[in-house]
Amino acid sequence: MHIELVTIGNELLLGFTVDTNGAEIARALSSLGVDVVRRTAVPDRAESIAAAVAESLRRTGAVLTTGGLGPTRDDISKTVVAELYGAPLEFDPTVWSDIVARFARVQRSPAVSNRSQAEVPRGATVLRNQWGTAPGLWLEGPLGLTIMLPGVPSEMRKLLELEVAPRLAARASGAVVRSLVVRTTAIAESALAERMGEIEREIMPLSLAYLPGIEGVDLRVTAWGLPADEADRRLRAAADLMAERAGEHAYGEGDSDLAAVLLERARRARLSLGTAESCTGGLVGGRITEVPGSSDVFAGGVVCYSNHLKTELLGVPPELIAGQGAVSEAVARAMAEGARARIGVDVAVSVTGIAGPSGGTEEKPVGTVWFAVASPGQTESRRVVFLGSRKEIRERAAQTALFLVNRRLIAD
Ligand code: AMP
Ligand code: MG
Repeated sequence: MHIELVTIGNELLLGFTVDTNGAEIARALSSLGVDVVRRTAVPDRAESIAAAVAESLRRTGAVLTTGGLGPTRDDISKTVVAELYGAPLEFDPTVWSDIVARFARVQRSPAVSNRSQAEVPRGATVLRNQWGTAPGLWLEGPLGLTIMLPGVPSEMRKLLELEVAPRLAARASGAVVRSLVVRTTAIAESALAERMGEIEREIMPLSLAYLPGIEGVDLRVTAWGLPADEADRRLRAAADLMAERAGEHAYGEGDSDLAAVLLERARRARLSLGTAESCTGGLVGGRITEVPGSSDVFAGGVVCYSNHLKTELLGVPPELIAGQGAVSEAVARAMAEGARARIGVDVAVSVTGIAGPSGGTEEKPVGTVWFAVASPGQTESRRVVFLGSRKEIRERAAQTALFLVNRRLIAD
C-alpha cells in the first residue's frame, strides 16, 4: 500500500512550525508496512490544498492530510476536500454532542464557530476525537482514499494510533520498516563504537545508526522491509546485544528518561534521594521532579551557588574551599556528604563545576565538573570535562549526575 502526506498550514511554509506531524506519520506508517512515497506542505489556501490533494490522489490513490480542521476562518481543508469529492457537508449530531460534552467538562459552551466542526462530508467516516474538537475524517470514493487528521500534534498522534493505523494495517503488504532505540549515556560515541565491536555485521540485515545528543548517544537499529514478526524478533535480539555491550551506560529503550529509570530503581530499593547543586543550579532536581510520583523518593535539594552557602547549608569547611577551590574533588565530596546528612536521605549527589564561558584556567578549563555520590558507607567522586556551550555543559552535567546515582543504585 502506497500513500502521500499533505501537511497543511501557513505556519509550516513560513517556517514558524516544524512539520513534526509529517515525520511522525512517516515513521508510524512505514512501521506498519505502508510506504509513504511523497510529502508535501501547502498553505491554508483553497487552490493549494485542492491541487495537492487531487495530484496525490491521481498519482498514488491515497493521501493523508493534517491541519486546517479547526473552527476558525483559516481552517478550510475539510470544505476543500468535500468539494473535490462532490460530497456536501452535513451536520452530524454525534460529533456535535462530543464537542458540547468536551466544553461542558470545563464548564463552558461551544462557540458558534465550533458548529462548523460538526459538519461532515456526506459518506465520510468520522474518526472520533476525544482529545480536541476537530474529528478526523476518512473519505473513500472514485478519486481514492483521503484521510484527514487535525494539526495539533497530540490529537493527530492519538487518532493516527487508534483510528488510522488499524485500518491501514489491514491493507498493508506485511513488510514493515521498524526501529528500536537503545539509550546510552556518559560514554563518547567513539568509545561506544569500540564496545559494539563487529555489531553491524552481527545484526545484518538490520542497520545501525549512532545518534549523539545532549543526554548521550542513542543507538537506533532498523529493520527494512521484513515481515513484522521477524523484524520484531531481530530488533529485540539486536537491542539486547547492544545493551549488554554498552553495560552500565545503557539505561533504557525508546524515549525512556534516565531520571525516571533511576527513580524506579530507588523506589524498589526503598532509598531516598537528595541533591546538592552548584553549577547546574537545580537542573538535576528539575529532571527528577519532572517525573510524576518522584516525591516518594526525592526529598529535595540544595542549590548552593556561592561558597558561603556551600558552608552555611551543607557544612563544607571554608578552608577546603579556600585551599582546593569550589570546583574540586574534596568540595564535591563534602557537598554530597553534607547534603546526605542535612537533608536526611540515603543517597545524595553533588555537582560543582565551571559552566563558562569564562572562569576557566589551564588546570581547570571551562567544562570541568566534579561530581560525588554519597551513599551508606561510601562516597564516590568523578571528574568530567564537558565540551559545548554553557547550556550544553549544564545539561550534560545534570545527565551525568543522574548516571552516577543510577550506577550507584545498580551496584548496590
Ligand atoms: P490546525 O489543525 O491547522 O488548526 O493546527 C493546529 C496547530 O497544530 C497549529 O497551530 C500548529 O501549531 C500545529 N500543527 C499544524 N500542523 C502541524 C505539523 N504538520 N507539524 C507540527 N505541528 C503542526
Ligand atoms: Mg492551521
